[in-house]
Amino acid sequence: MISRLIFVLILLTGLAPEALSANVKSGHIYVNQSDSLQIEQTISEALQLSRAGDYEGAVKLLNQADSLSRILNYSVGIEKVVSRRIDILIDRGRYDEAVEKAKQAIDEYPESHEISQYYNLLGTSYDYLEEPLLAIQNFEIALEIEQGSGSDADQNFIAGIYQNLAVVYKSLGEKAKALENFLLALETAQKTDQPQLLTVINNNLGLTYSDNDEFEKAIYYYEQSLELAEQINSKIDLYRGNLNLANTLSSMERYEEALARYEEADRLWSELRPNSPPVIIIHNRGKTLAQMGRYSEAEPLLLESLELSQQMGIQEGVYYNRYILGKMYIELGRAEEAVYNAEQALNLSLGSGNPTLISDSQNLLHQAYAQANRYEDAYQVLFDNKVHSDSISSLEKERELADLESRLEVTRQSDINRLLQEKQVQQETQLRNQFIIIVLAILFIALILITLFLMRKNSREKEKILSQLQTQKEELELLNEAKDKLFAIIAHDLRSPLTSMQGILYLIKDDLLSQEEVKALIPEIEGSLQQNMDVMEDLLAWAKEQLSGVKMEIEPVEVSPLVNDIVSSQAFLAEKKGITVNYDLSTELKILADKNALRLVVRNLVSNAIKYTKRGDKIDISSSQNNGNVQIEIKDTGIGIPESATDKIFKSKSWTREGTNNEKGTGFGLSLSKEFVERMNGRIWFESEVDKGSSFYIELPKHE
Ligand code: ADP
Repeated sequence: MISRLIFVLILLTGLAPEALSANVKSGHIYVNQSDSLQIEQTISEALQLSRAGDYEGAVKLLNQADSLSRILNYSVGIEKVVSRRIDILIDRGRYDEAVEKAKQAIDEYPESHEISQYYNLLGTSYDYLEEPLLAIQNFEIALEIEQGSGSDADQNFIAGIYQNLAVVYKSLGEKAKALENFLLALETAQKTDQPQLLTVINNNLGLTYSDNDEFEKAIYYYEQSLELAEQINSKIDLYRGNLNLANTLSSMERYEEALARYEEADRLWSELRPNSPPVIIIHNRGKTLAQMGRYSEAEPLLLESLELSQQMGIQEGVYYNRYILGKMYIELGRAEEAVYNAEQALNLSLGSGNPTLISDSQNLLHQAYAQANRYEDAYQVLFDNKVHSDSISSLEKERELADLESRLEVTRQSDINRLLQEKQVQQETQLRNQFIIIVLAILFIALILITLFLMRKNSREKEKILSQLQTQKEELELLNEAKDKLFAIIAHDLRSPLTSMQGILYLIKDDLLSQEEVKALIPEIEGSLQQNMDVMEDLLAWAKEQLSGVKMEIEPVEVSPLVNDIVSSQAFLAEKKGITVNYDLSTELKILADKNALRLVVRNLVSNAIKYTKRGDKIDISSSQNNGNVQIEIKDTGIGIPESATDKIFKSKSWTREGTNNEKGTGFGLSLSKEFVERMNGRIWFESEVDKGSSFYIELPKHE
């Protein structure tokens, strides 16, 4: 009874919003609003007719709406007609056909606005075919589709689906789920403020709680339902609410209140159906009065209801009245009447095949026979009851088993869903964790890289500083070495000639030398002085070069006067050793050089030539030109240089010999000369043969 009521309501509410929104351009034909409204109205009228039981009339109107929709290519109309046709099939109890049509519609119009309705109708058909699992499955699809349609979602329709789900769960004995869905239906319907819908949902909630023996809650929802019914002045809902409330009050033994409600229901019924007597209400009042022990008032009512039921052919009504009458007569000790009514009840129950009714009436008849002292009959009926109970219990067992199985299936499915959800959540968490780990790892690696980079940079800077320090250290060491050399040279090379001169000066001072002897010593002193001055000059140049780095000032230098100058300053030494110095240099020959450096180099070479030649030897100084360069050659016929010393003589201090007249050597004149020449972009080299002589060459750029 519940599901029927709900189903009617879903269709009613599902139609209204779409009926106003049909203005669809489709194909080449424009469907104007009046056409679409006409179609919607025809469909709506068809619905009214089918509600009133005029299925043929309804089908005719639907055919019209369908034809018109097809002519106008108005797909919304076509798809709605399909829904209404399935609806009528369900109304007429042709559930298998309804299932086929609904499936066909789902295949044919998968994109339709009606798609959720098709699933809902499919679910409803399955519910009637007692396929609760398939019903639930399809209701859930309908729910998902409708909820997924966002702001277009029809909340009333959603509420209806929740109700349908609740009803199926109720039939499965899943009380908690049934209630949950009823409450969801209520919550959803409350959003839309549809008192008609809310009235029905509240009534259904009342029935559900009442079935669960939670009477207080049942009363609360019935009262809500009644209040809403009052607001919209729906007599049928007021009647239903009062009747259901009265039944609940009666179950709670609040008989007086129950009677008042029955009276109200009675009044409403007479308004609603003036020509149809209230068989049920009369029976319920009689039953309540009987329960109160008010048998004299109960009896006429039960008899009246019995008669009306018989007249109207309501077998169920006849049964219940006979049953309650039988029960009452046992209480009153009217055994014969009790037996008669119980027998009638049993016959009817056997006819209905309802095992509970059969069992109840057998028990009643057994009591009646016993009261009438018909023990044999009592025994027989008790025996029948036993056989029947056994068959019932096996039937019940089967049913319980089936129930259990379907419940298990529902639980299993919800378990699977739950597990899947849990797994999904787990996977999501896992993915999130992995993501976090990856991000952290990347950050960590980045941190390490940055640290490494900084460390490397740091160490590079350190290395740089270290190498700078090393260079500075080496420079300092070199400077120190140079300083040591300088002091050594000064101590050795300058000191001894100066000491000998000092000795001579003392001799002169103390008049220990004669005029002639002094005169004879002067060339000695002069030579010694010249040597010292040469050494001094070398030392100063070298020290300057070593300690501060000499800056070359390259300029055009006239070669001839420079050589002339040097030879003049050395002439005395050559003369003293009996060596001839010839030089032949073209005047006006200019080279690019630093004047002082060039002077030092040439003087060194001339001085060496004198130093390493013997009496009677000669020195030739000449110049030549070659590829924009000028070569100066200082050639002697002296002792020469052994081959083994070739690689050493240009290296500072690595090889030195005393001169032919025991002149001291410093061993760095040539190395200094080489360095200076190269810094003036020139080169220096020599050719020599032992005991034959040597030729030293310097080559420098010519100034044009
Ligand atoms: P020093 O002459 O003070 O020893 P040098 O660097 O000027 O230092 O010369 C290095 C050495 O090369 C000399 O000791 C000498 O043995 C050799 N040398 C240089 N010039 C000549 C030369 N014209 N003839 C022979 N030997 C020479």
